[in-house]
Amino acid sequence: MADRFFPNEMPNFVAESTVSRGTSTDSLTNLLSLSYKTLSDQLKTAAFALKETVVRETWGLSGKRVQDYTVYTGALGTAYLVFKAYQVTKNLNDLNLCSDIVKACDSASKDSGRVTFICGRAGVYALGAVIAKHSGDTSLQDRYLAKFKEHIGKDTISTVHMRAVVDEIIKSGSRLAGKGRCPLMYEWHGKKYWGAAHGLTGIMNVLMDMELKPDEVENVKGTLRYMIKNRFPSGNYRSSEGSESDRLVHWCHGAPGVTLTLVKAAEVFGDKDFLQAALDAGEVVWKRGLLKRVGICHGISGNTYVFLSLYRLTGNAEYLYRAKAFASFLSVRAEKLISEGKMHGGDRPYSLFEGIGGMACLFLDMVEPSQARFPAYEI
Ligand SMILES: [Zn+2]
Repeated sequence: MADRFFPNEMPNFVAESTVSRGTSTDSLTNLLSLSYKTLSDQLKTAAFALKETVVRETWGLSGKRVQDYTVYTGALGTAYLVFKAYQVTKNLNDLNLCSDIVKACDSASKDSGRVTFICGRAGVYALGAVIAKHSGDTSLQDRYLAKFKEHIGKDTISTVHMRAVVDEIIKSGSRLAGKGRCPLMYEWHGKKYWGAAHGLTGIMNVLMDMELKPDEVENVKGTLRYMIKNRFPSGNYRSSEGSESDRLVHWCHGAPGVTLTLVKAAEVFGDKDFLQAALDAGEVVWKRGLLKRVGICHGISGNTYVFLSLYRLTGNAEYLYRAKAFASFLSVRAEKLISEGKMHGGDRPYSLFEGIGGMACLFLDMVEPSQARFPAYEI
């Protein structure tokens, strides 16, 4: 099974779908002709239904016992989605539900040594603190914040601590880069990854949030320029240094994650070459990003966030149209294609990063597209 639906441009597909699906009311073409407001209302309704399914499958049916607590594939991802729904509905039941889930994640994670937001305990305490703040529970908020600091280290968010982390990242990146052409390089599991989840792209994304010295800024810019210069002739990005396999168009590996980071580089540095490279990478996502998967890590939902990010950066309505096209495709087709085995529902089918949890999150983000952010990556 090929890993995406069609290599040609979406409009060709939309035309085909009209032929094969006649004029049924849920056809993609009909959805695309709706006003943005009407479409986003439909997506919002779909998102609430998906959220109910996700909550039932990951929380209700498990007897509210948490096996996997992470944002990535576990119960915290459900809490993240429910909180997102609360931000739209202001329904206190949603807020109370997130609070219960986070408490269960807190208990389930107490022996875990993982510290990151997406796969570790930082996610529990960060999300817990935000939810407690919205509930007006200051003592719970303080408790989560204290645990956040305690677990990650003292003075986690002080500039002194951040500086030490930046020093270490730059030092280790320069060491591995040696006298190579790329100023910074890192290795994980024996590979020099480029992508957003495991490699250079994700690391540059974090560094751009830090206060950097001028030479460090040049290292970050130089690393991004190295990647742009050495991208595939197709415009897609390698999954790791030296890889010749131009196959993956995912957030985790390939052009989508790189686009988000280049959008950030264009915003932070204001350089025109980063803006152009972001637009180029976005074209790859449009042409090859309609994957046979639903999630945000390596699926259509994640790739749709790329267009929302480019829309935010440029204000160009074309990107909003592209986001509408991918989101409409998901809302009309995903469920049926998954049930027919023509689309992969995700290894963890209800999760935020691999499953329909991410799709619901995207649909809620379509309500206010200029405010949309790829979960846990665009902050
Ligand atoms: Zn992935």
